[in-house]
Amino acid sequence: MCMRTKDGIIFEITGHDYDTVKRFEKLHESCNYGMTGDKLEYSFVPTSLGLLTVVECSCGQKLSIGDLIGPGKKFEEKDYPPLSKWDRENKAFEDQAKAILLLKDPKLFRLTFGSEQRLDILYAYVFGVARFGDSRIRKALTYKYSTKDTSGDEKGNIDEFFRAFEQGILKEVKKYECTDEQLLKMLHPEE
Ligand SMILES: [Zn+2]
Repeated sequence: MCMRTKDGIIFEITGHDYDTVKRFEKLHESCNYGMTGDKLEYSFVPTSLGLLTVVECSCGQKLSIGDLIGPGKKFEEKDYPPLSKWDRENKAFEDQAKAILLLKDPKLFRLTFGSEQRLDILYAYVFGVARFGDSRIRKALTYKYSTKDTSGDEKGNIDEFFRAFEQGILKEVKKYECTDEQLLKMLHPEE
């Protein structure tokens, strides 16, 4: 099996790796086709230890093959299941939650909006994310509206916003097996 990159470089997948890709493809035969019409996307990463090839299905599942992995690694179907709609929804939810939680950092806030942290800017952004995002983001926001008067100072209000938001997100990630290390760290900074 030969693959040509847009730069005209040709990569070949043969032998054991070829068999592995075929089995991966079979396992994912009922996954939807990606935006470009290709189900599997190949990335070739040359390293000092050899070529690393990453095959990604349109469902988001990834398979690594190549010199780096070696023929010693056995492909097990159970390690590469197609990702479900539910897995993908959780991943989108986690990414949206992280995008908001990152703004807790005044420096990142400034880089993003060119302003010191301000509640009105934060709200405008967060409600934009919530409007088109996962319903769990909206749920994590309602607390604020029902309980908070915004008479405090700006910093206090922002702290209060994030405290409430984190509680809401934490409640949601406890309902499934969240494996996003970065998000879990953001929610439990002490661990
Ligand atoms: Zn798949």
